Amino acid sequence: MHKIAIIGSGITGLLAGIGLRQQGHDVTIYSALGADDWMTKVPPTGTACRFASSLDLERELGVNHWEDTTPINGIHLTFCPKLGRQLIDLSGRFERKSLAIDVRVQSHRWTHDFEALGGKVVIGTVDIPKLEEIAAGADLTLVAAGKAEIGQLFEVDTERSVYDAPQRNLAMFVFRNVAMDRSKDGIPFVHAIKFNFFATEGEQFSIPYWHKDGFQCWNALFEARPGRAFDKFDDCDTGEKVLARVKELFKQYIPWDYDWIKTAELADPKGWLRGKVRPVVKKPVGTLPSGAKVMALGDTANTLDPIGGQGANNCYRQLRYLLKAVEANTEGDFSADWMNATFDAYFDGIGKATNDFNNLLLEKITPAAQRLLIAQYGSDGAEQARTLQQKIANAFCDNFDDPNSLTPQLLHEEDALRYVNALSGGAARSVDLRNKLKIAKGQVRQVLGMPRSDHPLARMSA
Ligand SMILES: Cc1cc2nc3c(=O)[nH]c(=O)nc-3n(C[C@H](O)[C@H](O)[C@H](O)COP(=O)(O)OP(=O)(O)OC[C@H]3O[C@@H](n4cnc5c(N)ncnc54)[C@H](O)[C@@H]3O)c2cc1C
Repeated sequence: MHKIAIIGSGITGLLAGIGLRQQGHDVTIYSALGADDWMTKVPPTGTACRFASSLDLERELGVNHWEDTTPINGIHLTFCPKLGRQLIDLSGRFERKSLAIDVRVQSHRWTHDFEALGGKVVIGTVDIPKLEEIAAGADLTLVAAGKAEIGQLFEVDTERSVYDAPQRNLAMFVFRNVAMDRSKDGIPFVHAIKFNFFATEGEQFSIPYWHKDGFQCWNALFEARPGRAFDKFDDCDTGEKVLARVKELFKQYIPWDYDWIKTAELADPKGWLRGKVRPVVKKPVGTLPSGAKVMALGDTANTLDPIGGQGANNCYRQLRYLLKAVEANTEGDFSADWMNATFDAYFDGIGKATNDFNNLLLEKITPAAQRLLIAQYGSDGAEQARTLQQKIANAFCDNFDDPNSLTPQLLHEEDALRYVNALSGGAARSVDLRNKLKIAKGQVRQVLGMPRSDHPLARMSA
């Protein structure tokens, strides 16, 4: 049994605490927020939609208390090369369900779960002198403090990080009083993530969400390219103002979803966020003034822009490696080398692909991704993926859960070509030509003000 200290009671700190306690270690969590504070004092850290493999970890730890809430079955994406031009829809299914549960109710419940397992919780903000004291009394100290200031203890890994500044200005809002079932809007699922992707302005996505107070609603986000059309939230200092601005933006720029959202009401007064995130990978070992070593975990170790819904999922990915490495470390030698090796195993195993996938969504579409988007044109979300289009659309969705699965094909043209050829019996180039013609026909119809009837989803919503 080792003595382990954890700073932070978000997803990362609590799941680490629960997993390590179940391994039999003596674990204490130090956090600025107690169980009830999560329910009353803070907005959710993020939307935190979790994909199948993350939910598996909750199941393995026995803390999957929200299985009966609304399952998210897929993604419906509308790609617009510029404002006012819906070029391509994608409608893909996840192989297994995802869930977006309010992190406030999870941290509340998991704090109690952790205590029920014999874990100790100490409430209060930890500064560097306090961290020295904690680390001196522990075999291993994990800093899972999210994006908080204490994370500055960990140096940016400039070889693994791509950006030196945030890439989007963000506005998140949790809302109710709109339909959960969007099949009437041509989205062929009862519950899907709706992703509106504007190459020039930024992105907007909406996710079915289980609210901390026990009802189903939506959590949505504007990802604004700085200075562009969606970058309109700077003066919004209340959730109501954010929501009013959201409705204006939908009416003007996303009219196909305006009727759906126009009746939206804020789900709770704290259910909104504004800000920006610099995507960054840190060095996992922090050295305190005394020379003691502490290890970064979760967002503190690797922060991602929310565009690909990878941040929380990435915390679970780190946790799997951490829990395995602690279990294997029977000697209790938690040296800097061990911390580096544990983080390197995660980064080489899945962290790099996670960052590559998430970052590619922030950038101009690659020729490879363009080829796949064109090849899937006509995907209709059918439950059995019998067509080439549906197989590609589904593979795109499942890459959110396992970014090793399709990221190379989204990044590299030759991989994309090989992939479509393998699925189409060598017909990638003719698929490309045929679908480009169909897309062009749809564009002409749009310019002429006719319904986009060439696309199966447009036919469904017409
Ligand atoms: C708008 C938005 C949308 C997002 N959507 C998604 C999504 O759909 N899917 C996804 O996977 N990810 C998403 N994310 C990312 C996800 O929310 C985070 O990756 C995840 O919640 C991080 O969890 P964490 O436990 O590492 O940190 P946090 O949740 O930030 O928890 C940090 C904890 O540390 C405590 N703390 C901080 N400093 C101190 C201190 N000095 N002393 C003591 N305690 C301290 C805090 O009180 C808190 O308990 C989104 C993020 C944003 C901003």
